[in-house]
Amino acid sequence: MKTLILGAGYAGLAAATKLKPTPGLEALLVEQNAYHTFETRLHEAAAHNTRVTLPLIPLLRGTGVNLEQAQVDSVNLDEREVLLKDGRVLTYDTLVVGLGSVTNFYRIPGLAENAAELKDVADADEIFTFVNRVYSGDYVGNRDIVVGGAGLTGVELVTELAQRAELLSKARGLPPFQIHLVEAGPKILPVLDDALRAKAQRTLEGYGINVLTGHRLMQATADSVTVQTADGEQKVIPAGKIIWTGGIQARDIVRGEKLEKGPGGRIAVDAELRAKGYPDVFVIGDMGLALNQEGKPVPTTAQHAGQQGRLTGKNLMHLAKGQPLEAYEPTTLGEFVSLGGLMAVGWMKLPWNQKLAITGGIAHVMKRASEWRWRASID
Ligand SMILES: Cc1cc2nc3c(=O)[nH]c(=O)nc-3n(C[C@H](O)[C@H](O)[C@H](O)COP(=O)(O)OP(=O)(O)OC[C@H]3O[C@@H](n4cnc5c(N)ncnc54)[C@H](O)[C@@H]3O)c2cc1C
Repeated sequence: MKTLILGAGYAGLAAATKLKPTPGLEALLVEQNAYHTFETRLHEAAAHNTRVTLPLIPLLRGTGVNLEQAQVDSVNLDEREVLLKDGRVLTYDTLVVGLGSVTNFYRIPGLAENAAELKDVADADEIFTFVNRVYSGDYVGNRDIVVGGAGLTGVELVTELAQRAELLSKARGLPPFQIHLVEAGPKILPVLDDALRAKAQRTLEGYGINVLTGHRLMQATADSVTVQTADGEQKVIPAGKIIWTGGIQARDIVRGEKLEKGPGGRIAVDAELRAKGYPDVFVIGDMGLALNQEGKPVPTTAQHAGQQGRLTGKNLMHLAKGQPLEAYEPTTLGEFVSLGGLMAVGWMKLPWNQKLAITGGIAHVMKRASEWRWRASID
C-alpha cells in the first residue's frame, strides 16, 4: 500500500511517527521544510528568537517512513495525484493530508499587503527583527505595534512582546513601544470562561497593552490601521508594525469533484477522518472538518491535530493488515494561554466533565507539560 503523508505538522508528524515498519505498507512523508515547527510556540520565537523547530530525520527513525523534502503544489483526488512545485507527480494508494491552515485576512483592504502574520518561522523572524530594529538606537519612524485579533495567538504574542519591550527598554535606556491589541468582538479570548478572561485582561493591562475590544479593523496601510467601533466611530492608529492574528482558513490545495467543504474551507471527513467521497484519503488537523460527539466542528488546535494524527497512523497500520478502522473520538484535555514569562491561565479536564481553572505559575507548568507530552509522543 503506497501511502503519502502530506505535511509534518502536529497532524502529519503524529501520523508518521505512529507507524512501525509493516509488511505491505510503504510510507513517504512529504514536507516543505527539513524540520517540524512547534507552531504553538511561535510567539516566543517572535519575541525572544527561541528555537521552535526540530529536524525531521531523527524523528522518523524506526518508523519505516521516508522523507521527501518538497513543496506540494496541488492535490487531485480524482486522478489520485500529488503535484509538486518542482513539476514531479506522486501517486498513491492511500493519502493523508495534513497541510494545515493559512491566515485569513477577510479581504480587509490593505491588510494582506501590509500586515505580518504568525504562521511560520519566517513570520516570527520578521517580528523579532522589527523589535530589535526599534531598539537599535538609529531607528527612525513609528515604534508602535498593532496586533489584530485577541484570540489565543494574538494574546500570547502581545504579552510576550510586552515582556521583551520591558527588558530591552531597561537594557538600552529607551522607552517601551506601545502595543495596541485590536479585537472586533466584545471580549478577548472567547474560548475562556469569564473569570479566567478577567484575569488575562488584567494581566494585559498590567503590561500597559492598549486593549481595544469592540473595535473592528477596517483598513490597513503601510504605517497605520483604521478601526471602527460598533457605533460607527472611526480612529486611525499609527503603527511601525501591523500583525494580523485574527483568523485562519484551511490551506486550499486539494481538488476533487466529490469533496465537501465547510466553514473556513475545512474538508468534511467521516468518523474515521476520511474525506467524504474519498475513502482512501484521510484529512487531518486544521484542514479537516472533524465533528465531535455533539456533531460540532472540532477546534483547530495542535491538541486535536495530534490526536487525529496518532489515530490515522494506527488506522494506516490497520489498513495494511486488513483490520477494521477505528473511529475518531476527540477529547479536550484542557486549554492554556500563556501570558508572558511564567504567567498563564487555563483549565484542565477533570473526571465527570468537570473543569479545573488554573492561573499563574501552575498554569504555565501545565502549558509546558502539554508541549513536553507532544515532544515525547513523536520520539
Ligand atoms: C502562535 C500560535 C500559537 C498557538 N497556540 C496553540 C496552543 O497553545 N494550543 C493549541 O492546541 N494550538 C495552538 N495553535 C494552533 C496550532 O498550532 C494548529 O492548530 C496546529 O499547528 C495545526 O496542526 P496541523 O498539523 O493541521 O498544521 P501545521 O502544524 O501548520 O502543519 C502543517 C505542515 O504542512 C507543511 N506544509 C504546508 N504547506 C505545504 C506544502 N505546500 N508543501 C509541503 N508542506 C507544506 C508545513 O510546513 C507544516 O509543517 C497555535 C497556533 C499559532 C500560530
